[in-house]
Amino acid sequence: MELKELYQEIILDHGKNPRNKGVCPDYNHDAKAHNPLCGDKVHIYLKLDKEKKVFDLSFEGEGCAISLASASILTETLKGKDLTFAKKVTEDFLNMVKNKTKITLNSLTEDQITTITSLSGVQEFPMRVKCATMVWHTFISAVAKNN
Ligand code: ZN
Repeated sequence: MELKELYQEIILDHGKNPRNKGVCPDYNHDAKAHNPLCGDKVHIYLKLDKEKKVFDLSFEGEGCAISLASASILTETLKGKDLTFAKKVTEDFLNMVKNKTKITLNSLTEDQITTITSLSGVQEFPMRVKCATMVWHTFISAVAKNN
């Protein structure tokens, strides 16, 4: 299978069967965003524990396959991680989309890196970049905001 096909398959799978959808119990941070260009909406729910670990993470949203896949991939990748690490992954993801750099975090598994990298295809479609990046910016907003 070509890499491009594998990436498409991952996005379709996450878009159709989003992981961690809904409101996670006892969340203590949240943030939402809207992309008027495409109609995508996302609401991130985050439970940070005392050790600054992403104890729970979920989202609600509607929109295109890319935006849903990106939200699903974000929650799956960052749930259970230390906040510092989660921020670093987010930074690397945004760099990948904007500057075409590679994800090389050694605390992620190869599968996780492949999954995140599947979203790199939006680089070629400027209109879709926001569909992929919005939820990652929303995660950072949620971290910064206390309920
Ligand atoms: Zn979209």
